[in-house]
Amino acid sequence: MKEEGLLYFNRIMEALKKHHEFFQTAIPLIASENVPSPAVRAALASDFGNRYAEGYPGERLYAGCRWIDEVELLGVELAKKIFRAPFADLRPISGVVANLAAYTVLAEPGDVMVALAIPHGGHISHGKKSWNGTAGRVRGLDVVRYEFDYERFNIDVDGTRRRLEKDGGVKPKIFMLGASVFLFPHPVREVAQLAAEYGASVVYDAAHVAGLIAGGVFQAPLDEGADVMTMSTHKTLAGPQHGMVVSTEKYAEQLKAVMFPPLHSNHHLHAVAGVAIALAEAMAFYHEYTRAIVKNAKALAAALHEEGLSPLYEKYGYTESHQVLVDVSRFMGGRDAELRLEEAGIVLNRNLIPKDYELKTDYRNPSGIRIGVQEVTRLGMGPSEMKEIARFISRVVVRGEDSKKIRREVAEFRKNYTKVHYAFSNVTEAYHFIEIK
Ligand SMILES: *Cc1c(COP(=O)(O)O)cnc(C)c1O
Repeated sequence: MKEEGLLYFNRIMEALKKHHEFFQTAIPLIASENVPSPAVRAALASDFGNRYAEGYPGERLYAGCRWIDEVELLGVELAKKIFRAPFADLRPISGVVANLAAYTVLAEPGDVMVALAIPHGGHISHGKKSWNGTAGRVRGLDVVRYEFDYERFNIDVDGTRRRLEKDGGVKPKIFMLGASVFLFPHPVREVAQLAAEYGASVVYDAAHVAGLIAGGVFQAPLDEGADVMTMSTHKTLAGPQHGMVVSTEKYAEQLKAVMFPPLHSNHHLHAVAGVAIALAEAMAFYHEYTRAIVKNAKALAAALHEEGLSPLYEKYGYTESHQVLVDVSRFMGGRDAELRLEEAGIVLNRNLIPKDYELKTDYRNPSGIRIGVQEVTRLGMGPSEMKEIARFISRVVVRGEDSKKIRREVAEFRKNYTKVHYAFSNVTEAYHFIEIK
């Protein structure tokens, strides 16, 4: 048994190291990911991850929490300052759980929630029961969709108001905002007005854009009328995989009461420490980091256009976020583009684009790809590197060059970008495998 255990152990360690080697030599463009700082990674490897601290910091039901309390309270203080929120809770262990907490506080099973449909950029955690979405399947909410303006890739508030009136009798309890395909700020003020007409709450899911909001480049949902803002802490906010919720004072006690005991027992304290560090980095560096992200996203879109690809929404400057949406259907399906680019060491994902809604394209092979530049920006890349990346993508997708050949060039290109930027320490390389012996 000892021998067999060792064989498994070696295979697992080998795969971990191979993964690190791959990311050290690839171009990471998945819009929902990022690389945290070495300090965040140190927090993840710390003893915090072996402890419990049930309850809100300062009101714990566990012993041994002195330093854990201190770190979590500092994180709460940072979150309140950065998001200008009266209340913050760092306990949700993911963005989905943060949403579930909001649903639990703001609505009862059977209540109606208005949210974006998934092909319009909505997230599965906002989804209805028949899609196996969290809101419908787990909390029992009846989810109806916003009318969507394809022309501007945004929520059509007036259209939604008219439809809700026409459907008379539908009384939403929650208006959900935020998305996974998220190019332009959402009309929070207009939706908050509509919500007020129904006495409903507004939740803003900032999973993708939390870092951009922290840096002040996207929008300020709580200032614009959202009651609760949920988020993941590992997308444009480059912390560990975790979640967070901030809100107005009104919902503070209820959110606290739902985070523990109903939704968590332990809340991943090593990740909480990582979030606190990421928030300190956000305070210090995100003014600069997020402006570089948006500049790079626009530069990449323009360069892709030059290279013969079709990034969408040129008329509106392509994007105001970290994402670019590209129609690749003239060349191949989104699935093939994703696979061939991955072979070339360019990691991004296929995505539904607006025309797929009308074409009823199979979601497994949509017409587009989604690109996020937050991670390459963190590696220190700027507009001239965006041009090189656009060229690599075009050689695979437009010119059909051999992916294996490009793979070698991509690895060579990556050699100059090995450190994390916008962090207090970056001695350890971004994707270095840290061995604790
Ligand atoms: C990624 C994402 C989530 C889920 O976050 P996890 O932290 O993975 O649970 C929720 N909402 C939106 C809009 C997302 O894009």
